[in-house]
Amino acid sequence: MHIDLSGKTALVTGSTAGIGHAIAKGLAATGADVVINGRGQAKVDAAIAAVAKVATGGKITGVAADVSTAEGCAKLVAALPDVDILINNTGIFEPKPFFDIPDEDWQRFFDVNVMSGVRLSRAYMPAMLKRNWGRIVFIASESALMIPKEMIHYGMTKTAQLSVSRGLAEMTRGTAVTVNAVLPGPTMSEGVQTFVADLARQNGQSESEAAANFVKQHRPGSLIQRFATVEEIANMVVYVSSKQASATNGAALRAEGGLLQTIA
Ligand code: NAD
Repeated sequence: MHIDLSGKTALVTGSTAGIGHAIAKGLAATGADVVINGRGQAKVDAAIAAVAKVATGGKITGVAADVSTAEGCAKLVAALPDVDILINNTGIFEPKPFFDIPDEDWQRFFDVNVMSGVRLSRAYMPAMLKRNWGRIVFIASESALMIPKEMIHYGMTKTAQLSVSRGLAEMTRGTAVTVNAVLPGPTMSEGVQTFVADLARQNGQSESEAAANFVKQHRPGSLIQRFATVEEIANMVVYVSSKQASATNGAALRAEGGLLQTIA
């Protein structure tokens, strides 16, 4: 199967690092025009240069904007009024005991992880429906279905993304627009590397020992028994963004290493 997205414009939010950056590279390799997003111009510029190296003809540009605020989303949409493919990737996570999570954290997690995708879908989806082609992908998590007790606020936002994603898919009936969610499991992104490095320091272990122990202790149900690479997640996202994925709509697609034990 050859995925060719030349002529399509893809926006990947939070693509200066981690899973979003790998998705941007994966889409650039299909010939799509890719728009990078992050909060700071310097990181956006560095990411544009890195993604341009693997591009196969598409234009690689970027917009610095904080998608967790209404103003940031408005700035992004003003700079980029139309996209064919919207990847709602931006997300934050932080383990914190439930009794210590203040209201502000609940609100911040909701704004970054949920409202970013809500606002951008509201801005971009009408033109997709009018043109009768488009792809919206929400990067949720296995935590949407298996709520982690160490970060219930994060789990709440990931479940909310599934709800928004499925609801938006209902609005595509009879069109060639699709809206799906992808559920990664533990994935070795920059954010997670920092988390594992902290664990290694605390426990006097190497980073690879700390990563292996984390999976054994905290994700014993993982069938792959390791962190996924960011490219493994990006592969699924590139596929569901492709023209070939036209019969996959309203789905919650797993790339979680078999952690979730239910069949459907
Ligand atoms: P990361 O921290 O490595 O990268 C996040 C990116 O988003 C960075 O480029 C950061 O600069 C950007 N960003 C953060 N806040 C932003 C904002 N307000 N506006 C614009 N950009 C912003 O994260 P990651 O691990 O790659 O996670 C990406 C997505 O994947 C998140 O939605 C996360 O919940 C989801 N996810 C990650 C894992 C994992 O184990 N890494 C597992 C399941 C789901």
